[in-house]
Amino acid sequence: MQSLTNRSKGVERKPMTIWEKMYLPAIAKGMGITFSHMFKKKPTINYPEVTRPFSAVFRGVHILNRDEEGRERCTACGLCAVACPAEAITMEAAERQKGEEGLYREEKYAAKYEINMLRCIFCGLCEEACPKDAIYLSQTFAPANYARKGFIYGKDDLLIPNPKTEPEAYAKAKGTIGKEIK
Ligand code: SF4
Ligand code: SF4
Repeated sequence: MQSLTNRSKGVERKPMTIWEKMYLPAIAKGMGITFSHMFKKKPTINYPEVTRPFSAVFRGVHILNRDEEGRERCTACGLCAVACPAEAITMEAAERQKGEEGLYREEKYAAKYEINMLRCIFCGLCEEACPKDAIYLSQTFAPANYARKGFIYGKDDLLIPNPKTEPEAYAKAKGTIGKEIK
């Protein structure tokens, strides 16, 4: 068939010599390369027992933050959703009721908050846009899942543990955020 461009080049196939037809030199050369790697430092690690440290600027799965009293910081203003180029964030706002002052910091809070991790490109714009320091990207990544709906992360998946009732879990989750959180 005639080529559409003139970029193709003809390849001349030279007949193999007897030495090449024996394949032994090529096998020996290949084995030599294999053995030489046995004495080099391994580039691989025994994951998941061993994990590589992430870069300080790594952006992983989101965390919805609480304040020092354990109250949810998010006020469901929607700025993160508007800033998100992938339209991955959705939420439903609710009014704080009397007696819920210890649960939510502002008069309005996110009754539902979802991030579709299959849409998310981990750009960090939601974190930049949030005026309440309520959302951070951590240094962990979304685990594999067989179902698409397993990648829709709700508030239960995103909310950091309460520092008052679960201080150890809170400290551990906070440690996955590679920067100072407020
Ligand atoms: S990291 Fe970027 S893409 Fe992911 S939810 Fe935030 S703004 Fe959207
Ligand atoms: S996470 Fe921040 S920007 Fe997003 S709705 Fe909550 S307060 Fe607003």
